[in-house]
Amino acid sequence: MDPVLILGGGLAGLSTAVFLKRPWLLVEKEARVGGKTRTEVLHGGFHFDATGHWLHLRDPEMTSLVTTAWLPDGFVRIDRRAAVYSRGVFTRFPYQVNTSGLPAEVVAENLLGFIDATLGDKGRALREREPRNFEEFILRHLGEGFAKNFMVPYNRKLWTVPPAQLSAAWCSRFVPKPTLKEVVEGALGLGGDQLGYNASFLYPRQGGIEALPRALLQSATGGRVLVGTVPTKLDWRARTAALSSGETVRFSDVVSTIELPQLVRLLAEGPSGVPEEVRAAAGRLRSFTVTYVRVGARGLNRQPWHWVYLPEAEFQTYRIGSPSAVYAPLAPEGTASFYVEYSHAGERSRAACEAAAVEDLVAAQMVHRREDILFAEAEEIPHAYVIYDDAYGPARKTVMDFLAAARLYTAGRYGQWEYSSMEDALLAGRAAADTLNAA
Ligand SMILES: Cc1cc2nc3c(=O)[nH]c(=O)nc-3n(C[C@H](O)[C@H](O)[C@H](O)COP(=O)(O)OP(=O)(O)OC[C@H]3O[C@@H](n4cnc5c(N)ncnc54)[C@H](O)[C@@H]3O)c2cc1C
Repeated sequence: MDPVLILGGGLAGLSTAVFLKRPWLLVEKEARVGGKTRTEVLHGGFHFDATGHWLHLRDPEMTSLVTTAWLPDGFVRIDRRAAVYSRGVFTRFPYQVNTSGLPAEVVAENLLGFIDATLGDKGRALREREPRNFEEFILRHLGEGFAKNFMVPYNRKLWTVPPAQLSAAWCSRFVPKPTLKEVVEGALGLGGDQLGYNASFLYPRQGGIEALPRALLQSATGGRVLVGTVPTKLDWRARTAALSSGETVRFSDVVSTIELPQLVRLLAEGPSGVPEEVRAAAGRLRSFTVTYVRVGARGLNRQPWHWVYLPEAEFQTYRIGSPSAVYAPLAPEGTASFYVEYSHAGERSRAACEAAAVEDLVAAQMVHRREDILFAEAEEIPHAYVIYDDAYGPARKTVMDFLAAARLYTAGRYGQWEYSSMEDALLAGRAAADTLNAA
């Protein structure tokens, strides 16, 4: 039987290979597998993942595999310590249920806005219909104060477009909706930080997050991995692929984990082509780039926070994280490490991000002095997040319907073109393999 061709060796592609009971051939563009879960070790022991990569598990089989088989050197379990830095103070994340400590007028604005939105006359109109966009969702469920003081400016920075241009249906899934009791308790200093999906997480004891894809690669048997290779031509009717290695291979099925618009382009350029409306739909799928700056600094962490959200315009970054604050062995003794994140839809120079990262770290009180910074090096993640705008749902459906009819499978955050986690990528790979095993 011809092998299943797996495009991409991130977690979704590797998981597909692990669970397949048919021959497979995995083709990965980079020199090593891992995708977004690769770890770089720089300057004598600073371990950097692609920003933060913390493992949140909920599926029983994945939890068992990760904790018993896929992290051979063990793991650490960590309770999240995340904060928001706003008005010159750190408050615990999530902002909505931890406003105590902010200036009194900000707390009052947040609280009264929440009451108006959820119970008052002012919020009635929005309560009586479905929100038309993400900004309306924020106003409907959190109110004007939270919108103005955190949700709108923070999300504007992260998503690169105003929340009014984002789809409520897709974005609202990531926003916890607190109760009045939680909001009031948070304003009075009685708040918790367990709201939301990531209150605790796992992390490999050794090797950074790349320990996970490395172990998956070891567990994947019954196939072949080609790194440093891309398909140059994909003929979905003839079921053949020409590879940059010069080889042409026959395949029975494809599981693609590469970016969905890239897959459509590849198919469109191949002998079988794709219908014009599919190509046009793929052209409407948008994403943005994250440039993160890897920073090493002399001295231990000034702040205890694992990561900090920065909604205010005086900071160019939307989030600063610290690998060394999460897990000290990720930085050499006597040092601290950070990733400082910048999202952008067009070009943004690495040098500009590196300079901004130094400014932002000092201004946000994450380091004592600029002189303590040992290095600041930017790295880009193209297509880091897909943009859930109004075009997203219909355009994605057009593409997915075509792929289903052509019997081409996709998996993972970029194959499925969605906002999802490492565990989701592992689950998507398993689901694709299960479908093919049963075929
Ligand atoms: C900034 C950021 C932070 C994140 N933080 C977390 C977190 O804390 N926790 C969490 O659970 N998840 C997190 N995620 C999500 C997580 O990284 C992804 O869900 C997961 O790693 C996606 O795996 P994947 O295999 O679908 O995609 P990828 O890892 O992108 O794998 C796709 C692979 O395809 C390869 N490829 C691309 N084009 C070609 C081609 N033409 N031919 C061959 N190969 C190709 C790529 O090189 C790559 O190896 C984060 C994501 C980002 C962007």
